[in-house]
Amino acid sequence: MIEIPVKTSKRNQFVDLTKEIQSAVGKSGVKNGFCVVYCPHTTAAVTINENADPSVQVDIMGKLSKLVPEGEGYSHAEGNSDAHIKSAIIGNSRIVLVQGGKLVLGTWEGIFFVEMDGPRQRKVLVSVLSE
Ligand code: ZN
Repeated sequence: MIEIPVKTSKRNQFVDLTKEIQSAVGKSGVKNGFCVVYCPHTTAAVTINENADPSVQVDIMGKLSKLVPEGEGYSHAEGNSDAHIKSAIIGNSRIVLVQGGKLVLGTWEGIFFVEMDGPRQRKVLVSVLSE
């Protein structure tokens, strides 16, 4: 298992980890198999989406924040229920296929850590398994 540290600087933020995760795949020595990317945080998430146009990230976060507004009518006393709910919607892990030592991703795809209660020091865990 490889741990990737992630330092976020905003409350809501996409962090492209594609290069770091590809590097973890390289270090594992696995040529064909799959890569598990896991976020061990309850107010953050991991997703795969477009990394060519950053306005896609703005649209995703903007719509999520409209669907799940910050700070009204929640039971959880910590004041970050919106982040917990958005984390549950997106999900905390992804599995990516590995072929020839490379992540199998679409042309416009990247793997993102999604911060929703930052800024914080975070981490993403990666495990690469052979077929
Ligand atoms: Zn909380």
